[in-house]
Amino acid sequence: MNLPAFYKRARKNKAALTRFLKKLEDIVPEDFPPIVEEEDKKVWQKVDCTTCANCCKTMTPTYSKEDIQRIAAHFSMSTAAFKEKWLMQDAESKDWVNTSTPCQFLAADNRCSIYEIRPVDCAEFPHHHKRPFDDYTETYLGNIDRCPATNLLIENLNERVEREYEW
Ligand code: SF4
Ligand code: SF4
Repeated sequence: MNLPAFYKRARKNKAALTRFLKKLEDIVPEDFPPIVEEEDKKVWQKVDCTTCANCCKTMTPTYSKEDIQRIAAHFSMSTAAFKEKWLMQDAESKDWVNTSTPCQFLAADNRCSIYEIRPVDCAEFPHHHKRPFDDYTETYLGNIDRCPATNLLIENLNERVEREYEW
């Protein structure tokens, strides 16, 4: 993944993709769910997360109580020691998040060193599978200039809907 090229593209298409996602909050084109499925499959044929890891490098997951218990146990640590070593509580949301980026569990080969027991938030990222898709426009708005997969999906959906629908 060429991240500088991605950032350049994301700067260029941000306004158009934001317009599309905002419109999607009000109008959902007919037959939208199967279009999302088709376009998402195409995205994952092109994007390989192991050459990117931009989410792990630049963002933090939120850790649920269960995530913290599971991962702390893996390291034979108490949850208090685990929090003390790696986490802080977000002032506004009160969510437990990483103290620093890149994530401490990101290995040198761009893979997650705790993949099998990673936070549920990581396992669900970039949330393309969530339904109804148009309920997650705020999430995608926050990620279109961070996640190449989300940017490509929203770009493809925008092009396809503009081409095939009058809305
Ligand atoms: S989910 Fe998005 S940001 Fe994370 S590694 Fe995959 S393409 Fe990159
Ligand atoms: S726990 Fe793993 S998947 Fe989640 S941000 Fe850290 S390195 Fe990435």
